Parts: sequence; C-alpha cells; structure tokens
Amino acid sequence: MTADDERAVLDAVPTGLFIGGAWREATGGARLPVEDPATGAVLAHVADATPEDGLAALDAADTAFQTFRTIAPRERGEILRRVYELMVARIDDLALLMTLEMGKPLAESRGEVAYAASFIRWYAEEAVRINGRFQVAENGAFRVLTMQQPVGPCIFITPWNFPLAMGARKIGPAIAAGCTCVVKPAGQTPLSMLALAGLFEEAGLPGGVLNVITASRSGAVMEPLIADPRSRKLSFTGSTSVGRRLAALGAQHLMRVSMELGGNAPFIVFADADLDAAVEGAMVAKMRNMGEACTSANRFIVEAPIAADFGARLAARMGAMRLARGTEATSEVGPLIDARALAGVHELVEDAVARGATLLTGGAPADGAGHFYPPTVIADVPADARLLDEEIFGPVAPIVTFTGEDEAVARANATPYGLASYLYTRDLGRAFRMMERLEAGMVGVNQGLVSNASAPFGGVKDSGFGREGGPEGLQEYLETTYVALNVD
Ligand code: NAP
Repeated sequence: MTADDERAVLDAVPTGLFIGGAWREATGGARLPVEDPATGAVLAHVADATPEDGLAALDAADTAFQTFRTIAPRERGEILRRVYELMVARIDDLALLMTLEMGKPLAESRGEVAYAASFIRWYAEEAVRINGRFQVAENGAFRVLTMQQPVGPCIFITPWNFPLAMGARKIGPAIAAGCTCVVKPAGQTPLSMLALAGLFEEAGLPGGVLNVITASRSGAVMEPLIADPRSRKLSFTGSTSVGRRLAALGAQHLMRVSMELGGNAPFIVFADADLDAAVEGAMVAKMRNMGEACTSANRFIVEAPIAADFGARLAARMGAMRLARGTEATSEVGPLIDARALAGVHELVEDAVARGATLLTGGAPADGAGHFYPPTVIADVPADARLLDEEIFGPVAPIVTFTGEDEAVARANATPYGLASYLYTRDLGRAFRMMERLEAGMVGVNQGLVSNASAPFGGVKDSGFGREGGPEGLQEYLETTYVALNVD
C-alpha cells in the first residue's frame, strides 16, 4: 500500500456532519483530529459537533420519521440492498480507511467490512417480511389485529474497535423497520462511519433518515438527545460504565434501550476436546481484532491434564505472529488503539507475573513507535490476578486449570459479565449440560467465532441486554400495536 493510496482514500471521505441529508461544518467551525494508532500521525480532521448540532440532527431525524415510516417496505429494502452492493464494490477502500484509523491488519478490516455489509444485506431482505396477525378473540367478542410499527427516531452510539460493523448492525434493522437515526461514532475512529453515510447518500436514502455527528464532547452532545422524549430508542455499544449511565438517562422517559457492553469471555477446554481444533478456535477467539473485541476470549479455563500441552501449542502459534502496521502485507497484529490501552494491557500482565504467573510468550511492549503489544500467553495465573477479573482488550491469553464440569462452570461464571463463552469438548451430552449452565448471551461450542448476521448477538448480566442480528435484531426497532376490532 503506497502513501498515495492512503491519501486518496482519506481525501475521499466526507469529514463534516451529515444532518438532514447534507454535509456541513459544526457550529463555530471546530474540528478534531483523527490519528493513525501505528504512527501517531494525524490522518484527517472531522467536524466537532456542538450540543446545538446534536439537536439539529435529532430535529432532522424526527422530521424525516414522519414520512419515512410510510414508504414502501420494498423501497426501504432496495436502499439497503444498494448500500450493501456499494460496500462490496468499495471493500478495498473501506478496509484501508479502517486500518488507517483503527490499526487492525488489512485482512481483518476486509473481514469487518464484509461482516458489516452482511447486516445491511440481511436487513434489506427482512424489510419486506414485517407483519402482524389477525385472530378471533378467545370469547368471540371481537377480532384481534396486531401491527408492527417502527419505534421512531433512534440514537446510536458506537465504539472504536469495530468502526463500521457496530453501526451497520444498528442502522440496517432500523431502516428496514422504518426508523430514522442519529449516529455518533467513536471519536478515535469516525472516518469509517462517515464513509458509510456517504454510501447511504449515494444509494438515495431520503435526507434526515440517517444523521451522523462526530464530537469530542460526547456526553455534552449526546446526553441531551437521549433525554429528549422525541428519541424513542437508544442502542449503545461500548463500556459497561458509560452504558449504565446512558441507560439511566433513557429510563427517565422510558425509551427502548439496547446495551451491548463489555465482556470477560471464558474459553473452556475439556480434556476430551480435539486439541488442534481448540487451539485453532483459541487463535480466532483471542486474536481477532488483536484481542480488542468484547467477545474476545479473556480467560482460558483448561482441564488440568491437557493444560501444559494446550499452553505450549497456543504460545507457539501466538508467539509466531508478525507485528506490523496494519497496512503492511505481512501484518498479523496491528497496534493497540492508543498509549493508554497499551499501558493498561501491560499493567495487567505485570500484575499477574508479580503474583506468580508464568510467561510462556510475549509479556512486554514492543520497541519502536506505535502502540504495539506482542501476543502473550501466561500460565498458572493465580485466582486473585486482575487479568481474570478485568476485560483485557489486548492480545493476552491467561490460562487457568480446572477439574470436572462443576469447577469449569463455577470458574466461567465467576464474573459480573455475560457476553460470549466458548466450550471445547467431544462429548455431546456435556456440551448441552454446559451450554445450559453458562451465564452468557452467546455460547460457541467447538467454535471460536460467534458473530453472524443471522444470529442474535448480545449479552446478559453486566454485558447488557437487547440483541443485534437475526430476526431478534429487527424486533428491537418495532412496536406492536394491537387493535380490538368490533365486526358486529
Ligand atoms: P466507551 O468509552 O464506552 O465509548 C463508546 C462510545 O460511547 C464512544 O462513541 C464514546 O465517545 C461514547 N461515549 C462515551 N461517554 C459518553 C457519554 N457520556 N455520552 C454519550 N456517549 C459517550 O467504550 P470504548 O472504550 O470506546 O469501547 C470499548 C468497550 O466497548 C469495551 O468494553 C467493549 O467490550 C465494548 N464493546 C462491546 C461490544 C458489544 O457488542 N457488546 C462491541 C464492541 C465493543 P468518544 O469516543 O467520543 O469517547
């Protein structure tokens, strides 16, 4: 990838606020920088919205909703279909843009663009399948008619780790349902979402249906929108602490709320598992997105007799991965998002080592520029190590051991989080017993990747509530109106 390729992709991104179908500067003209996490270089400046701009975006979404809710389902589906086709056609440019602002290797960015596009395609197909029902009341007194209607203007807030997919899996079902929205991407990675807004514009989405605002003062700009009773739905993906605060704000006017929050996924390997498959699955569950994923395997819980073998194999695979800026063809591990993330990951590793854990590979930040942390495997991690309690959000795999199903379940569930969990065993009965006992919204059985457009993604406990993807993801944007119909 040449510097000219990078410049061309960056220059093509609209960097203003997308409000009411038009691009404009923030009130007062302020802009905020977007940096390359591999080099620290400033890639672009985007508009820095004020609270006034935020309200203008909600005004636009509210106005557009009055007409958009009535357009034909097929028309909504066709717009989404065109956006899907544009995303596929522009996958190389979108992937390069994502790698530049977020850091992940190009192959992973291509994977995310395809993943994001799959939600847009799925909901393009679902838009025409929204229906209701008709029934004779049980006592025959009247008829029962139900209609599914769009909930109304929505507020979407997304994190930096999946700059396109986290927005696409909210925008797709919202538009399919006939909702309008205001989206705020993360301050560190706004460019991918701005590029997506450009594709919606190109696909002919009516003005005001999708509004995108970028802001450094996210609370000051977004909290008044959440508190505004015109907003009927909040879907937030991010940290549990911010999610908790925003859910409380939304509760003031009882808006519909979905929270996709942090995780602390257990990855359980029984001694009867196919060890090759378990290591392969561990590589995906741990190293996808350099470990900066809410579904990332955070604790490897391995049955005692195979723990040493599993640890050695995982360390060999992870230790051989190549670190480089994501734009390099050889890159398998890009930089972490920023210096704070790097320091946080290293602090957790140091804490575990200080408490007696054994480093099998990695363990110290890489030399040179950028926030690179090498893939790290740590065995014999004591129960009081912070690594086991906190979301690592980096390429670090702590291993602990267990004996028997009860101990595996107890260890796996010993966290306030409950997003993903993974389980490797060849015993079918055990797989069923375990999947029923694990406290998690998603369970991968002999499978290290759970994300898919056709499946309901989401968590329990402190990992949040609500689902994205599949038919469940569409229901998040629909209200049921029931009509009692007198036919006498
Ligand atoms: P974060 O600090 O909670 O930020 C997420 C988003 O919220 C960003 O757009 C941020 O804007 C915005 N924000 C922060 N404070 C706000 C406020 N008071 N009002 C309105 N918006 C506010 O989380 P993060 O560190 O970026 O993301 C990492 C977290 O996301 C991890 O815990 C991860 O597990 C979770 N995550 C969950 C899922 C899932 O589906 N469950 C998926 C991906 C990530 P700024 O960028 O401007 O601060």
